[in-house]
Amino acid sequence: MFDINRVSILNVPRWEAVYRAEICPGIVSIVAIHDTTRGRALGGCRILTYENESAALTDVLRLSRGMTFKNAIADLPLGGGKALIMCDPEIAGEERERMLLEFGKFVDAVNGDRERYITAEDMNTTVSDMLVVKRTTRHISGIEVDPSPYTAWGVYCAVKSATRFFADDLFGGNGDLRGKRILIQGIGKVGHTMAEHLDKAGAELFVSDINPSSIDRLLTEVPSANVVAPDKVIDQEVDIFVPCAGGEVVTKYNIDNVKFKILCGAANNQLATTPIGARLQERGIVYCPDYIANMGGVCSIQYLEIERLSEEETLERIANTVDQRLKLTFETGFANNLSFNEAVDHAVKELIWGNKESTLTAHNRDLFPGACAN
Ligand code: NAD
Repeated sequence: MFDINRVSILNVPRWEAVYRAEICPGIVSIVAIHDTTRGRALGGCRILTYENESAALTDVLRLSRGMTFKNAIADLPLGGGKALIMCDPEIAGEERERMLLEFGKFVDAVNGDRERYITAEDMNTTVSDMLVVKRTTRHISGIEVDPSPYTAWGVYCAVKSATRFFADDLFGGNGDLRGKRILIQGIGKVGHTMAEHLDKAGAELFVSDINPSSIDRLLTEVPSANVVAPDKVIDQEVDIFVPCAGGEVVTKYNIDNVKFKILCGAANNQLATTPIGARLQERGIVYCPDYIANMGGVCSIQYLEIERLSEEETLERIANTVDQRLKLTFETGFANNLSFNEAVDHAVKELIWGNKESTLTAHNRDLFPGACAN
């Protein structure tokens, strides 16, 4: 049992509930439940070091809201949440196991007797980590299914769709990936599979990772890939840039240096701020919203683990949903003269809240349960 006194509730306006606990001495975990209008909140747990707790909170809040939007645009009966554990991702052995067991108890405690937040793997956590977490909570998905290959498949489908959609404007009518110069940042679980898809499609591949062993592993399978130093990524002359490492890739400091024509990757929050989307678009650069491009992983959990679709049906449904939602985004952008990152948010708000974002917090609900139910 997790001692509930170790859990504090952070009152964050517009988030249904945000919980913090020191799950092991010196190791803080935060669970953010953004919105459960469409169903229980699903979102993975990442292990990461942060400069301070405020930076960690900002990250988990943005990510959890992103999950609400991603689950809605993917048409899944799920809300959005996210969790993080603030510590060195390299933590290993008994220490890692103990931490993951405590994290599971924390997840169980925030759920109480309701199904509110379901955790899963994310950055720096693996399926085997989640098997440990499962020993102390049943509120977990992505155990039977490793979502990463499906995330990669979704990103690949998004790259293909965007290239076809903008073939005339960007590539002289050639909407094929063959021969296109494509750079992947981060050759981890998603980036590696993505590289294999793009190599098969005949793209000229560029890869970058801060971890040389990730690059070495890829080069044994795709020896023709060109390696780019991590600090030379942003101004590479490529057609398509696929961020599969961390977020905030395009910022006000580097936007004038970017040379790609399409930005489409798995990383969450690739744009440092919302106005960056409009600035990219003014330069004729197409941004495929992160939460459409990377929806394949969460879709795979729903389709394979919950709806029990076959592998083939799952891949086809991911491809169709990504394609349809991207087209909807581009068309909404054109119709309303919005940047594509704003266009997709516009479409999702309509889907979830009839275009009025909820301002309820768990605190409000606890204080005024009667009025909030009206
Ligand atoms: P991962 O941890 O397996 O891989 C990330 C890789 O990026 C690592 O190899 C790491 O060394 C590298 N990296 C980190 N910083 C870098 C930098 N500055 N330059 C170059 N390389 C760098 O993570 P993943 O599961 O492949 O996920 C990649 C991204 O996609 C993350 O942002 C994650 O949140 C997002 N995402 C993943 C999934 C999924 O199913 N795994 C789903 C949705 C979104």
